[in-house]
Amino acid sequence: MKRTMIYIPEQTHQGLRKLAFEANTSIAELIRQAIDIVYGEDVNGYKLAFNQPSKAVKNCMSCGMPMTKLEDFGGGNPANMYCAHCSNPDGTLKSYEEVFKGMVSFMITSQDMNKETAEGAAKEYMSKMPAWSGE
Ligand SMILES: [Zn+2]
Repeated sequence: MKRTMIYIPEQTHQGLRKLAFEANTSIAELIRQAIDIVYGEDVNGYKLAFNQPSKAVKNCMSCGMPMTKLEDFGGGNPANMYCAHCSNPDGTLKSYEEVFKGMVSFMITSQDMNKETAEGAAKEYMSKMPAWSGE
C-alpha cells in the first residue's frame, strides 16, 4: 500500500475518529472503504466519471493544500501560489526548514505519527512538491 496525505475538515476528522473507535477499526480503513464504495469501479477500471479535479481549485505549490478561501492564500492574495501556512505574512514563501517543521507538527497532531515517522513522511511528501522538488 502507498501512504498519502489528505486534508479533511476538522469536524469530519472528529467524526471519523468516533466512527473508527465504535467500529473498532482505523480512520484509514474507513477512508479506504468509503473510496471503494464511491470510486471502486472507477479506480479499478479506467473511467473517472465524476469529481474531476476542478481547475478552479488551486493547490499550494509547497504543501498541496487546496486553497479555496481568500485567507487560505499566502498574504491573503489569491494570485499567490503558496498557502497561508507556507507563506510569510507578506506572501513570500517560507524557508524549506520552516515549512518542513510545520508539516511535521501537522502530521504528528493530525495523523498520530511519531516524530521520526512524521519527519520521514514530510520529507518524502515535500520532495514531490513543485516548490521543493530540488531539495
Ligand atoms: Zn502550503
